[in-house]
Amino acid sequence: MLLDGKTAVITGASRGIGLGIAEAFLAQGAKVAICGTSEGGVSKAKEHLQGKYPNGEILALAADVSKSGDCDNFIAEVIKHFGRIDILVNNAGITRDTLLMRMSESDWDAVLSVNLKGAFLMSKAAVKQMIKQRSGSIINMSSVVGQSGNAAQANYSASKAGLIGLTKSLAKELASRNIRVNAIAPGFVKTEMTEVLKEELRDAILQSIPLKRFAEVKDIADAAVFLASENAGYITGQVLAVNGGLYI
Ligand code: NAP
Repeated sequence: MLLDGKTAVITGASRGIGLGIAEAFLAQGAKVAICGTSEGGVSKAKEHLQGKYPNGEILALAADVSKSGDCDNFIAEVIKHFGRIDILVNNAGITRDTLLMRMSESDWDAVLSVNLKGAFLMSKAAVKQMIKQRSGSIINMSSVVGQSGNAAQANYSASKAGLIGLTKSLAKELASRNIRVNAIAPGFVKTEMTEVLKEELRDAILQSIPLKRFAEVKDIADAAVFLASENAGYITGQVLAVNGGLYI
């Protein structure tokens, strides 16, 4: 198994891509610690994962990645429980889509706080342990719109482009400690985040995807397994686009 004996932290894993990554990591022999903002959400996710992997080791806690205290406490609990952190997936993300003229300061702040600052805070908390271990792999969940830009997503696109800058900077800073840092830039993935989009918009996006299908959560989870594993041992500072050719 590709992640045997590894301990992975996955943020925003109560549903969607994060939950899919937790599932894929368990399938590859990893122990997983997951978080989301609601106690109920993470408990339900843990139940789902434990049902699929009865022998899997799973820690599920409520933590808001935009709050430094929550990040520090969550990471401290993971270390107390599992004794190490090999993989961190900064996956938690939100949208507050609207045109610039209608975008409030709080729409901007909320998205940047969770999507970008959250990855900074969690990385800062987890890297201390990875430095002690002299190894680690960090994966930041960016987006195709962080590469291409998108109307009505100035806040979200800026946060996802910011994650690419964070990824490249941390890759350079942490390489000497044997910590790899990469990003995944998914295209359109079938989750609750995209369910809210209007039918016409979904159809238009589908037409522009060369592979003519939306991504399944598994498409993204498989990329995360690869980047987290030793198969990607010489890869750092990269953005792996998993977008069906939507942006090339
Ligand atoms: P989703 O279904 O809406 O799930 C988002 C997850 O993040 C939930 O588990 C949510 O849990 C958690 N979360 C939200 N705010 C949080 C916070 N402050 N602290 C901790 N957890 C938080 O979204 P998704 O589609 O799986 O997206 C996952 C990631 O992939 C995001 O970063 C998203 O931007 C990115 N992405 C998605 C797509 C797509 O097409 N779906 C495309 C490109 C990139 P609670 O609500 O319980 O807190």
